[in-house]
Amino acid sequence: VVQVFLSNIDKLDGDIKAFLNVFYDYALKKAEKIDENPQKEGLLLGVPVAIKDNISIKGFELTAGSKILKGYIAPFSATVIEKIEKEGAIIIGKTNLDEFAMGSSTENSAFFKTRNPVNLEYVPGGSSGGSAAAVKANEVPVALGSDTGGSVRQPASFCGVVGLKPTYGRVSRYGLVAFGSSLDVIGPIGKSVEDVATTLSVISGFDIHDSTTAQVPVLNFEKYLTGDIKGKKIGVIKEIQDFKVQPEVEKAFKESLEVFNKNGAEIVEISIPHIKYALSVYYLVAPSEASANLARYDGVRYGFEGIGDNLRDIYEDTRTRGFGREVKRRILIGTFALSEGYYDQYYLKASKVRRIIFEEFKKAFEICDAILTPTSPTTAFKFGEKATPLEMYLSDVFTIPVNLSYLPAISVPFGTDEKGLPIGIQIIGKWFKEEELLNTAYVLQ
Ligand code: GLN
Repeated sequence: VVQVFLSNIDKLDGDIKAFLNVFYDYALKKAEKIDENPQKEGLLLGVPVAIKDNISIKGFELTAGSKILKGYIAPFSATVIEKIEKEGAIIIGKTNLDEFAMGSSTENSAFFKTRNPVNLEYVPGGSSGGSAAAVKANEVPVALGSDTGGSVRQPASFCGVVGLKPTYGRVSRYGLVAFGSSLDVIGPIGKSVEDVATTLSVISGFDIHDSTTAQVPVLNFEKYLTGDIKGKKIGVIKEIQDFKVQPEVEKAFKESLEVFNKNGAEIVEISIPHIKYALSVYYLVAPSEASANLARYDGVRYGFEGIGDNLRDIYEDTRTRGFGREVKRRILIGTFALSEGYYDQYYLKASKVRRIIFEEFKKAFEICDAILTPTSPTTAFKFGEKATPLEMYLSDVFTIPVNLSYLPAISVPFGTDEKGLPIGIQIIGKWFKEEELLNTAYVLQ
């Protein structure tokens, strides 16, 4: 199995460029070991998995898509890595991403751009663009990504695969390069809801190394995929009718509602009045947390080291040459929003509005079981097409409110536009009810 996927990588990845690094020897050796010991059990026994390169694997380079970490070797493995390896998964390589997971197209990688396997002229989405593209191209059956504002779901949508953002606290962040610590979640990308469900069962659970993980039971999520959603209430957010959406996406969204209707679910209208502020809130909260998290890249502790006669100059040169434009923009915004005199006006205000959005979702879930939106307002765009940061940021309007509210959500492929580019539908579930969320998604796939 590993050989088949490795040969797919050899054939295809010259064009797609999903991988930053392929572990040929490591993967084959692991596979041989499993062949020698065939009785061994595991939920992912012998399954090749690709890992977004912002997740640590002991002894391997960890770049987070940034020049500033080039050459840094991870001294420990993330909890998710230990968990998947314990269940027999075979890690096949590290995938490309927007620098520090900041972006929606993988164009912000410091190394190269990844192409969408559906059409090489289009971006794969981001920031987990490498992981989504690798799955779509059959270079790997499952991959892990991270989702701070949509980075698992949006690339899954653009590439036509399934991507799940678990509830915040469901999966340990230990060993994930921190971006926005109150938003970051590791999530699986796969070809089917079943594959994503199984991978979630493996990576979930309380972790002594991450104080934000929750003490909730880990289920075998695949067992809950019955396809029975009779009597369930599917919520449609009234306010998103004001959002600008590509007509073909709008049409697919309406058709997806029909599917639920036919399966015995009821469509209800719900209201999240503050959802229109979610993007603004996110672009204060996420950069603020990022500016604090990225302070550690000083040229002394990790990877790339700049030059200078004193410590200050070394810091300055390291960060000037080590970080890319988007990362610098976020650090500047975040530092500004947290600075004395502005903290109350920006960061605190944003945190309060975040809480209101959370409460509005809570109220909505009193009258519905799941909420449906398109994953992204458009299908994949061409390289360089999004000329301003704001245009790029808008591709996450539907995914960002979910992270702000710590909710689980999944993107499921649902048809294509006229150019044949995939459309994704997002289903948002209740906190820690991934089994219900996955079963709802199962009906749509
Ligand atoms: N595109 C969003 C951003 O640039 C979300 C990224 C993510 O989820 N990591 O911040």
